[in-house]
Amino acid sequence: MGEALFALPQAPVIPVQGETAGYPVGRVFCVGRNYAAHAAEMGNEVDREAPFYFTKAAANAVLTDTVVPYPPGTENFHYEMELAVAIGAPVFRASPEAAQASVFGYCCALDMTRRDLQIRERQKQRPWDLGKDLENGTVLAPLTRAADWGSPAGQRIWLEVNGEIRQDASLDEMIWSVEEIICHLSGYYHLRPGDVILTGTPAGVGPVQGGDRMRGGVDGLEPVGLSLTAAE
Ligand code: MN
Repeated sequence: MGEALFALPQAPVIPVQGETAGYPVGRVFCVGRNYAAHAAEMGNEVDREAPFYFTKAAANAVLTDTVVPYPPGTENFHYEMELAVAIGAPVFRASPEAAQASVFGYCCALDMTRRDLQIRERQKQRPWDLGKDLENGTVLAPLTRAADWGSPAGQRIWLEVNGEIRQDASLDEMIWSVEEIICHLSGYYHLRPGDVILTGTPAGVGPVQGGDRMRGGVDGLEPVGLSLTAAE
């Protein structure tokens, strides 16, 4: 390979609790509508036919406690608090056992969304990229290894804006479990270390403005935070 003409923005390296080496982000997959109450608030019916996904560029992700401007092109910028799972071993067409064994760890994440654009494009049956894959649009907190946290089993997931609680749910409300998601998604991708999967948001999504501070958590994991300044 020849020398590159220029350097590209780098995807973040997520700190890992209790370790010096971090986890480099390769790809970001997101599960849509994985909590029934959130699907309902978005005007959708839930089915158990199959999960669906969208992707966000890894270089558009940032680490927790970043301060970023209110993004361009939207008047309805929403938070979505999510549990993220990081893959730690290659897995393809995973069995349930292989899916479990492929998990490196978990972290808190924000799937920031230009809701007006997502809904507009959805209504026109167009892709969601303008709504979802925005710069600074994925926020990742430090990872905890699965061996040190366990697996999703009814832990509380919550988010507050300026200290007021907006999302408050339980991980056992997830329609598709982490294991089911990895089994399904690995039928379409050779999942590998660096792949981070955001597992969907519970009910209570809503808008934020310049000056707002978001903070979210999942029991037993490091919290995630994001602050907004005024639009550029
Ligand atoms: Mn989401």
